[in-house]
Amino acid sequence: MPELWMPGATRMDIGDHQPTDGGPAKAIGHITWDRNASAAKPAALVSYETLASYFGKNSAGQAVAPHLLWNPFTGRVTQFVPANCRSKSLVDSPGGTRTNRAGSVVLQVEALFFPYCTVDGTVYPRLVDTPCKGWPELNAWVRSWGVPDTWPMGRPVDFTSHRSETVWEKQAGWYAHAHVPENDHQDPGSWPAFTTQQQEDDMTPEQATQLKTVYDRLAVAPWTYKGAQTDRDAYNYLVNTDKNAKAAVDSVASLATKVAALEAASLSDAQLAALADKVAAAPALAEAIAEKVAAKLAARLAE
Ligand SMILES: [Zn+2]
Repeated sequence: MPELWMPGATRMDIGDHQPTDGGPAKAIGHITWDRNASAAKPAALVSYETLASYFGKNSAGQAVAPHLLWNPFTGRVTQFVPANCRSKSLVDSPGGTRTNRAGSVVLQVEALFFPYCTVDGTVYPRLVDTPCKGWPELNAWVRSWGVPDTWPMGRPVDFTSHRSETVWEKQAGWYAHAHVPENDHQDPGSWPAFTTQQQEDDMTPEQATQLKTVYDRLAVAPWTYKGAQTDRDAYNYLVNTDKNAKAAVDSVASLATKVAALEAASLSDAQLAALADKVAAAPALAEAIAEKVAAKLAARLAE
């Protein structure tokens, strides 16, 4: 079983451990949204200690406590209930889904943040503009509980809500509070990219154009960035190309190991003769060996 308490997090157990209902493993992203600031009127971030003691010790706070309070400026995390219990940051109306319990886990994360908060004199319009310290560890721990790195309702990029009871019931992954049925909150507005991805943000249109030019020159099958001919965007294309390349490298490496093992084994003359007979009797096998030799020769010529 994965760790019930996130390694490195401060433990502030508030009790009332109740099980989840089972189903697709989920995580929910929130921001604490303590103040309403704006570009014209930024406000100082509320202290981490204030929020930790609100969720951990104040009865009103405990009643809406998440699993984790995360400070994206320092990487500090405080955990209030174990992973396999429900937490309480979602509204759960009578009937329908039991939002806080609707999964094998429903791991809720409150990022200490509100739009246009100031920290050390810098204004941060969105959560993704912060250093997002500690996110890789948090993401990994949530993943260890079977929550896949995916947003069934889309990665949050603004404060609009998109809610679908059907998707919620059937799909595992990360949901914004703005994606949860029976709720009216629109946070978190943005969320860091999964750490398994190799690119922090989506491409700019200029980058997409540059990439398209490169691909066109390489005469790869035609595609456009989020265009009509494909359901994959350029980022997806890159990620999968990279995956395929990795898989190819892995399989070559394992083949090399096998070949080395064969070379290490010394065969007697009798064994070699038996092997030759076997190959001679099986045309398909002979053909496969010939192909491998040809491929090896081709590879050598290409070097
Ligand atoms: Zn929320």
